[in-house]
Amino acid sequence: ASLIRREVAGLPRYDPGADPAEVAALSRSSRIIKLSNNESPFGISPAVAEAIRLGLADGVSRYPDPTGRRLAEAIGTSLDVPAERVVLGNGSENILELLCQAVLDPGDLVVTQAPGFSLHETFPRVMGARVEKVPVTGEFGFDAEAWSTALAAGPKLVFLANPCNPTGAVLSTGQLEHVLAATPASALLVLDEAYGEFARLDPEYPDALEALRGQDRPWIVLRTFSKAYGLAGVRVGYGVASDPTLVQALDRVRTPYNVNHPAQEAAIAALGDHAHLADTVRRTALEISRVTGRLEQAGLRVVPSSTNFLFIDTGRPSDRVAHELHRAGIIVKAWREPGYETYIRASLSTPEDNDVFIRSLTAICVKDK
Ligand code: PMP
Repeated sequence: ASLIRREVAGLPRYDPGADPAEVAALSRSSRIIKLSNNESPFGISPAVAEAIRLGLADGVSRYPDPTGRRLAEAIGTSLDVPAERVVLGNGSENILELLCQAVLDPGDLVVTQAPGFSLHETFPRVMGARVEKVPVTGEFGFDAEAWSTALAAGPKLVFLANPCNPTGAVLSTGQLEHVLAATPASALLVLDEAYGEFARLDPEYPDALEALRGQDRPWIVLRTFSKAYGLAGVRVGYGVASDPTLVQALDRVRTPYNVNHPAQEAAIAALGDHAHLADTVRRTALEISRVTGRLEQAGLRVVPSSTNFLFIDTGRPSDRVAHELHRAGIIVKAWREPGYETYIRASLSTPEDNDVFIRSLTAICVKDK
């Protein structure tokens, strides 16, 4: 028998969107513009930088608070939920993993989106679960009938990213209600709002905590400090659960010190810095609309996005486009999923960098027309 479990041996490796060796080579020879990971180009505020500095100065020889009490309380207060319903993770991806470990038995069914976030499929598969992916309609819309059918098959867990990565599209309040009505009351509904801070500008975007309040079912809303808060490097995300017992179950499976001390301090400071968040969200929205317009003028199809990234149909093999962009010092993520082999996903950066991206992408797409 083989040492490695069959489920694990068959998994794809996480695709970070750029070959690290290629990135290293590029950054030696020139400045690189990294648009592959949906990070914030606007970074953190001086207050958050200071919190990290103090966190490093006073904390690294001791273990962090394993309960993350101060951060959980700050999150609870900001959302008006008790801290007992808040779980912290080493990035929100850590919580996705914990949920699968706590809930899934081999053979269980998980329903999620296609195209979607790779870890919504990888973590269930590690547990030996089956994954059913519900495709979007041809116009990147919500396919109500397909969701009803998939949910009627009796999933144990439903992963729904709102907004969706990679499309950037938002599920409206009505569409969320459709999913809620069709999801068996025994299933755990996971609403992944990694890009929620950006989407809140969109009037269609539901207030999930409001929509889920009073639902007689298990649910959890996941958020992260990695995107709009600009803290991807310190790794901290959180979940707000329907019930403290779900948080307690995750506490049993997580590594006790999963969120380090400087990260906890950074997140507390970031949560309190409303002005920096608002500024990042506003500047991002301006660039999303400007770059979308420019690419459309150049004849490219761009999916309307309520996030900090764009899903772009280049009309030619995305691997080739990404490779040519790499040569120009720009890193994007090429899509390889069947049906989307001509798409790239690019997060936006500063206006100057985005102009370089627009020029390079349109030059590549015009050149081989
Ligand atoms: N969910 C979605 C939909 C994402 O796109 C990402 C980041 N790529 C994550 C979760 C995980 O983010 P993090 O672990 O940095 O919080």
